[in-house]
Amino acid sequence: MNILVLNAGSSSIKFQLLQLPQGKVVCSGMVERIGGKDAILSYKTDATEFKKETDVTTHKNGLTKIVSLLLDHDKGVITIVNEIHAVGHRVVHGGKLFTDTTLINEEVKEKIKEFSSLAPLHNPHNLEGILIAEELFPEAKQIAVFDTAFHQTMPVKVKKYALSNKFYDENDIQIYGFHGTSHKYVTAKALDHLKLESSKIISIHLGNGCSMTAVLNGKSVDTSLGFAPSNGLIMGSRSGDIDHAIIFHLVHKLGYEIEDVEKMLTKESGMLGLTGHVDLRDIQEKAANGDKNCQLALEMNAYRIKKYIGAYAAAMNGVDAIIFTAGIGENSALIRKMACSDMDFLGIQLDQDKNDERAGKIREIQNSDSKVKVLVIPTNEELEIASQVYDLVAH
Ligand code: ADP
Repeated sequence: MNILVLNAGSSSIKFQLLQLPQGKVVCSGMVERIGGKDAILSYKTDATEFKKETDVTTHKNGLTKIVSLLLDHDKGVITIVNEIHAVGHRVVHGGKLFTDTTLINEEVKEKIKEFSSLAPLHNPHNLEGILIAEELFPEAKQIAVFDTAFHQTMPVKVKKYALSNKFYDENDIQIYGFHGTSHKYVTAKALDHLKLESSKIISIHLGNGCSMTAVLNGKSVDTSLGFAPSNGLIMGSRSGDIDHAIIFHLVHKLGYEIEDVEKMLTKESGMLGLTGHVDLRDIQEKAANGDKNCQLALEMNAYRIKKYIGAYAAAMNGVDAIIFTAGIGENSALIRKMACSDMDFLGIQLDQDKNDERAGKIREIQNSDSKVKVLVIPTNEELEIASQVYDLVAH
């Protein structure tokens, strides 16, 4: 079955065409900087690879270009659009309603629209991607895979904020959690690798957005992102945990407009706010060359991860394995080392050589005395989405 996975963001559309059940990637790519003449289209198949500047003014324009490429006589991979059997859409917010992967119909689209109020930066673009894909692939099944779905198993005592009950009961204000597709994928890989019957796993997804999830016997029981993808760890440009009183102070005492506070906390904080850089590679390099802000930012970042490891070990009464995944988790030996240092009381001890090795596959990096397994597992959200789509459509 040919499954096209789409991830439509505010100014980009990522795509991957996979053949299931083999899991073969037929082609992949992305349109970035949608909205102008300097958009970038990248595309890769077994036979060809390129990246070029092009004019993409709208998402529809972008997706139409992608479809033209898929159908292209020389570089394409299909001859008619009906060769795409299903389109899997990454949808960030499924509210309380969507606990699983869902076949899209009018009602589902209405709900995704309704949940735009909970994820204004993501759901409207996800929905737009769905509407365009319905037009371009009229015969294909359209399926939504929600980032929030994996966390629906969290108990109420975890997901409810200590606010007046009406906010939970009537206004859907609660912890939803995100990166569910990634956490689900890597924990399933870890369980498969470790062959554990019962398990206490802490999954650490460190990309531009960062989150940690406590996974007890394969189910999410706590997670660090909350009502929106802003809580918890220090991220590329998001602050993670702060005292909400800072917001009142900024508005009432320092004269900030609330829109500016929102922008500051989501786009100008985190590693960017602390160092002026968003890419961890730059920050590591500057820190190595003596930049004090970069050194401190790395320490703050690792300390926050360490705090959540402690919290989730306590929440699950132990931990069998810790997983590092996504761009930073998979590639930064330094962050892994700093986050796992002085954790021997919890049974976490790294093997520095194994930690420093580079490999694009699942690997263990703890030493022989470590009671806890420490795993580096490459995430693959596209494959997870395609697998979930396949399970829904084929069965
Ligand atoms: P997202 O999917 O959330 O956009 P990624 O999972 O691709 O993000 O991760 C992006 C982050 O990974 C960037 O901060 C980048 O600096 C970091 N990263 C990628 N490669 C490396 C590396 N070799 N060493 C350190 N950090 C890396």
